[in-house]
Amino acid sequence: MVRNRRMRKSAEEDQTIACEWHINGLVQGVGFRPFVYRIARANGLKGWVENNNLGVTVFTEGSRQQMDAFRRDLFAQKPEAARIINLNVKECNIQGYTDFQIRKSHNYSDHITLVSPDIAVCSECLADLKRQPHRIDYPFINCTNCGPRFTIVRDLPYDRINTTMDAFEMCPVCRNEYQDINDRRFHAQPVSCRQCGPVYKVMNEDVATAEIPRAIAQWIDDGKIVALKGLGGFHFLCDAYQSEAVELLRQRKHRDGKPMAVMMPDLDSVKKRFFVYDDEEKVLTSWRRPIVLLKNKFPLAPAVSNGLVTTGIMLPYMPIHYQMFDFLKTDAIVFTSGNLSEEPVTIDETQGVDVLQQVADHVVFYNRDIHNRADDSVLMLAYGHERLIRRSRGYAPEPVLFHLDTEGIFAAGAELAGAFALGKGNMAILSQHIGDLKNAETYDFYSEAANRFRNLFRLKPSLAAIDLHPDYLSGNYARSLGIEIIEVQHHHAHIASCMAENGLDEKVIGIAFDGTGLGDDGSIWGSEFFLCDLSHYERKFSLLPVPLPGGDRVTEEPWRTAVSFLYQYMGKEFIALKLPFLETVSPEELQWVLLAIEKKMNAPLSSGAGRLFDAVAALTGLCVYSGFHAEAPMRLEAAILPDCKSKYLYDVVDGKIILRKLFYLIVKDLREGKPAGLIAAKFHNTMLALFVDLAKRMRKESGINKVVLSGGTFQNRYLLENSIQLLENLGFEVFSHRQVPSNDGGIALGQLAVAAALRREKQKNEEQTENNVNPFKR
Ligand SMILES: [Zn+2]
Ligand SMILES: [Zn+2]
Repeated sequence: MVRNRRMRKSAEEDQTIACEWHINGLVQGVGFRPFVYRIARANGLKGWVENNNLGVTVFTEGSRQQMDAFRRDLFAQKPEAARIINLNVKECNIQGYTDFQIRKSHNYSDHITLVSPDIAVCSECLADLKRQPHRIDYPFINCTNCGPRFTIVRDLPYDRINTTMDAFEMCPVCRNEYQDINDRRFHAQPVSCRQCGPVYKVMNEDVATAEIPRAIAQWIDDGKIVALKGLGGFHFLCDAYQSEAVELLRQRKHRDGKPMAVMMPDLDSVKKRFFVYDDEEKVLTSWRRPIVLLKNKFPLAPAVSNGLVTTGIMLPYMPIHYQMFDFLKTDAIVFTSGNLSEEPVTIDETQGVDVLQQVADHVVFYNRDIHNRADDSVLMLAYGHERLIRRSRGYAPEPVLFHLDTEGIFAAGAELAGAFALGKGNMAILSQHIGDLKNAETYDFYSEAANRFRNLFRLKPSLAAIDLHPDYLSGNYARSLGIEIIEVQHHHAHIASCMAENGLDEKVIGIAFDGTGLGDDGSIWGSEFFLCDLSHYERKFSLLPVPLPGGDRVTEEPWRTAVSFLYQYMGKEFIALKLPFLETVSPEELQWVLLAIEKKMNAPLSSGAGRLFDAVAALTGLCVYSGFHAEAPMRLEAAILPDCKSKYLYDVVDGKIILRKLFYLIVKDLREGKPAGLIAAKFHNTMLALFVDLAKRMRKESGINKVVLSGGTFQNRYLLENSIQLLENLGFEVFSHRQVPSNDGGIALGQLAVAAALRREKQKNEEQTENNVNPFKR
């Protein structure tokens, strides 16, 4: 009996069947079809594979056993940048194929597939750079596993004709490789060689193509500034050890104090100068090649990180970067975006010629268009995970998976770190980082990118989610679409974005500590303790608001906010104390600020946590005037005295957090000459105590145990790591950001989630009403 069954089973296994596989996810432009081809052949399957707007479709004929092996290999051996989100397999009729083929792409309109982010040059291509005759020293070398993707794509499916590579005709050698299934460049859309591909040139200078990497290296070593066209835009480069060059670059770029990113040739060099932990090493060397914030060991030129304890470091990701380092004497170059302060990065050598020549001594470009602009991404590692600060090259436009139906929703994002999101099926497709929309050029970039994304991903939006703030330009764009609008409160969107990326769809405790965002009472919020789900929120606790004398000016002059807090909690008494931070402020200015507070003139009320951090940074003298966005909180965090456990006191009355005791105690410490680092530590510890205290109160009242952390303040590593640790120690389940920034760059995702949840609720209500009106309806 047993034997018979076994025999029957094996006969079943040998029987030929046919299957159609629909694979959805990041499967185009990452070497997926050649990979499928290889594993299908290796497992003896017949049939075909093709790209289409649904993703990749595979048709296989063979035994059940062969199919199982194929499925196993599909997941176990897939290319590094590939991501399978959905796999659907159905059995079909046998067609009797005799071999396995890669078919021409098909376009099934209205459905989409995903676009791969750009991928750093792979090690095999770097080896080919030294040995493959037609590509010796050819800086545009790439293969199916590496090279430009998102930045050159104009339309889907991802084929050469839909990229900016279509301007270059493949030579016979490249065409052979492109068509040879056994070649690593089989269907590598940007394939090219010295004969047929793009080339670098130096603007208005006669430098032979082959000499360009050497020339760049020479210029940098000589202390010059070079503009170099990259994957998603230009960079400005100079030697990171030569203070004069770095300061000149800062000056010409109008970049006041913001730290600048640095490229180093390899991990060994990085480790000599910076502390690198294992998880940081992994991210630094990943195919995404982001800028990673690392702790300084031996600093570079002081102007690079400008007094902060970390520096943004990245490794080479384009062939020319490696070629430059072959000739460079220095092992660290400033590698900052090729723009003037606050403007979008320059992508076109013709249109941007003025900026490029104004800043750089030499301009190096190449003759292929950048279609989609993308800055370098920035992240830090905290509590064992990547925390994005700027999400762009190497990450965009990878989607975030959703548990809700997001189809047809456009989420406009905020204003400062602009980025929008499109809802498609159960995904959110986030744009690359766009920048401060108040700048006209940046707003143009925003609307251009939004139009392109809508075409690329074939979205006809039917619902738009925007910030409550009536003046945000992102909202203007959304309103111009002429569709239904949902307004989402800024900090609710923050919490919702963190919930969405963590797959939460329930009531949670949400802590949103942030700079600025309009509240539903017309004041500025930013220290929210919410009890909320995706569609509704209840504001349980927040800081007692203070006036911001001078409105927006407080972001550049944190001393104004410090004065406002002191006045709120001590009255004019503090003036007699002659606190050192006011030494640089003229008596007239101080009088004016006091008057603005008293008379409530141009002094909007704010409960934003960012302003509280500003005030403490000013009070301690760490940052009385701020040269760039969030400088004050960054300096305050950088000053924290390690291993300090003490803290200040506060009160909570009727849902308002009163900081009278905190400010009294800080002033007392200042007058006793305590160091700023101690005060910074005690202040941060007070905030941590507040999180824990209020989360406990909310848990007690609601029985809810999930805490969601979001808002720009959680870019503060000390706060993020310690709050997770402390809350987890108390048995809370803590959720924080990993896929999108906790700053305003992640807002669009939250708006999308709120809009999707409200739409679902509305649909449910409509169904119910319908049932009520028609009692006979089943
Ligand atoms: Zn490669
Ligand atoms: Zn060629």
